[in-house]
Amino acid sequence: MKKRFPFILFICALVLLPLLPDTPEFWITQLNYIGLASLVALGLVLLTGVGGLTSFGQAAFVGLGAYTTGWFTTQYGGSPWVALLIGLMLTAILAFLIGAITLRLSGHYLPLGTIAWGLSLYYLFGNIEFLGKHDGISGIEPLTLFGLSLAPGRHIYVLIWMIVLLSVWTMHNLLDSRPGRAIRALKSGAAMAESFGVNTAAYKIIIFVYAALLACLSGWLYAHMQRAVSPSPFGLNHGIEYLFMAVVGGAGYVWGALLGSALIITLRDQIQNVLPKLLNTNANFELIVFGILMILVLQRARDGLWPILQGAWTRIIASDNVRNRPSPPQAPALLQRARPKAGDPVLVVDAIRKEFGGLVAVNDISFKVRAGEIVGLIGPNGAGKSTTFNLITGVLPATSGQVSFMGARIDGMSAREIAKRGVGRTFQHVQLLPNMTVLENVALGAHLRSHVNVVEGALHLDRSREAQLLHEAAVQLNRVGLGDYLYEQAGNLALGQQRILEIARALAADPVLLLLDEPAAGLRYKEKQELAQVLTQLRDGGMSILLVEHDMDFVMRLTNHLVVMDFGTKLAEGLPADIQQNPVVLEAYLGGIDDDLEIDVQASSATRSVS
Ligand code: ADP
Ligand code: MG
Repeated sequence: MKKRFPFILFICALVLLPLLPDTPEFWITQLNYIGLASLVALGLVLLTGVGGLTSFGQAAFVGLGAYTTGWFTTQYGGSPWVALLIGLMLTAILAFLIGAITLRLSGHYLPLGTIAWGLSLYYLFGNIEFLGKHDGISGIEPLTLFGLSLAPGRHIYVLIWMIVLLSVWTMHNLLDSRPGRAIRALKSGAAMAESFGVNTAAYKIIIFVYAALLACLSGWLYAHMQRAVSPSPFGLNHGIEYLFMAVVGGAGYVWGALLGSALIITLRDQIQNVLPKLLNTNANFELIVFGILMILVLQRARDGLWPILQGAWTRIIASDNVRNRPSPPQAPALLQRARPKAGDPVLVVDAIRKEFGGLVAVNDISFKVRAGEIVGLIGPNGAGKSTTFNLITGVLPATSGQVSFMGARIDGMSAREIAKRGVGRTFQHVQLLPNMTVLENVALGAHLRSHVNVVEGALHLDRSREAQLLHEAAVQLNRVGLGDYLYEQAGNLALGQQRILEIARALAADPVLLLLDEPAAGLRYKEKQELAQVLTQLRDGGMSILLVEHDMDFVMRLTNHLVVMDFGTKLAEGLPADIQQNPVVLEAYLGGIDDDLEIDVQASSATRSVS
C-alpha cells in the first residue's frame, strides 16, 4: 500500500486538476501535450530502453496518424474513429516494412533507417498537394464522444489521459508476461534467448510496430486537439526530442516516459519564455539546453531520473524483504514431452568439424549420448569443448560433419529449432538477465512451453498460463536448491549460484538432453556435492546429460562415459576408470610422463584448467 502512495497521489491530481475551476487553462493544455508526448515516449521505452533498438523517426509516425485523420476527415468527411483505424493500419504496415528491412541488419542500421524515414516523411508531408504542402491541413473537426464535444481542452484531457493510463497499464502487463520476458532479453541476451526458442527477430519487429502504433495514436489525438496539422511538428528534431524524453525520464522504465515528457515539455516552455528575455534574441535555444541536459543525464544518471526517484522512495518506506515473498501460487503442471527409453541413442555426433580461419577448433569429433546417461567431455582449456557445444546447439554452423538428435539430423538447424526439439543448455560464461528476478530468468527457459502472444500479455488475458510458467520456474529452482532466491535480482547472486540458476532455466525447457558447460566452476565443495546429487537424480529420471567440467573428482564420480579432447581432436573415449589410466590422456594433461601413470588426473588438470 505504502509503495503505491505516489501512484495514488498522481492519479488523484490527474483527476482533480480539470475538475477544479481555478486550474489555469494553460496547465490543462500543457498536461495535454505531456500526455501526447508520453504516448510516444512510452513506445520508445519499449523499443529503445527495454529492447535496445534506437529510433529517431517516431515523430514521423506521429505525423502519419495526424495526417491520415486530417486528410480523411476533411476531404471525405469521414469519421475520425475510422480514420484512427486507417492510420493504425497504415502505420503497422509501414513500420513492419521498415522494421523488416532494417532490423535484420545489426548495429546502426535501424537508427539510420529511422532517420531516413523521418526525413523523407517530413518532406513528403510538405510537398504533397492534397496534404496541403507546407501549410498543412486546417479545419479538422474536434472529436465527439457519446454526443459530447471534446473541443474544450478539459474534455479532450480526459480522453488523452485515459489513453495514456491505459497504455501504461498494458505496457506494464506486457513486460510482466511471457512475451515481455522475451522482449527484455533482446538487448543483452538475444543469443541466449534464441537458445530457449525465442524468435528474437520477430520480437524486434513486434516492438517496433508497437512503438509506432503508440506514436500514431498520439498523432491522431494531436490533430483533433490542435484542429490543424502542418509538417513541422513531425520533423526529425522532434523525433530526437522524443528520444530525449525517454532517456531523461528513464528509458528502461514505463513511468520514465511520463516523467521525461513532463520534464522536457515544462523545460522547453520555460526556456522559450525566459531565455529570449535574458539574451534579448529570439533564437532557438532549447535544443542546445536539451543537448547539455542529455550529456549530464548520460554522465550522472545513465538510467534516467525515474530510478533515482524510485530508489529514494523505496528507501523512505524501507521496502519489504524480497526473500520473504511466498512462492508463486500452485498451478497445473505444464505438458511434458515424451522421453526416449533408457539406452536409446539421443545424440549422435558424427565427424563434426569447426574451423575458425586456419584454426581447427573441432577436428572431426564423433561420440554418442544415450538416454539416461551422463557423458563427460573433458580436455584442457582451448580443447574445443565449448565450440562443440555451440555446434550441437546450433549457435555456430559446423564446417562439416553431422549431428543427429533423437534420430533426426539437426546440424544446419537454427538454435531456436534445436531448442524446440528438446536440447537445453547452460553457458560457460553465464548469460543471465541480471535485472530480472531469478524466477523470471528461469521462466524464460520455459518460453516454448506456453503460447501467449503480445496482445494477450498486454491485456493480462494470460494469467492462468503465466501462473503455470512461474510455478514451473519455482519448481525447477526448488529442485536445484535456489528456492530461497525466487525474487532476488539474478545479478545479485554469487557466480556459482548463477550457474545453478542456468541449470534450472535449462530444466524449465523440459529438455531431453542437457548440455552443461562447466556447471561446477565457482562452487564450494558442499555446493558441488549438492549439484552432483541433482544431476544424479536427473539421470535416474531418464535425462541425458553432456557435461564439460574441469573438476576431475566431480567428473569421475558422476559420468558413465568420457570423451577426452585436446587441440580440437578426440584423444580417447571410454569408461571413466579406464580414461583415468590412459597413457595418452595423461600425456596430454601432463605434457609427457614415463613411468608413474597412476598420477591423479585431478591434481594435474588443475594446472591447465584456470579459465
Ligand atoms: P574449450 O571450451 O575447450 O576451452 P573452446 O571451444 O572455447 O575451448 O575454444 C577452442 C579453440 O577455438 C580455442 O583456441 C579458441 O580460441 C578458439 N575459438 C573459440 N571460439 C572462437 C571464435 N568464435 N572465433 C575464433 N576462434 C575461436
Ligand atoms: Mg569452454
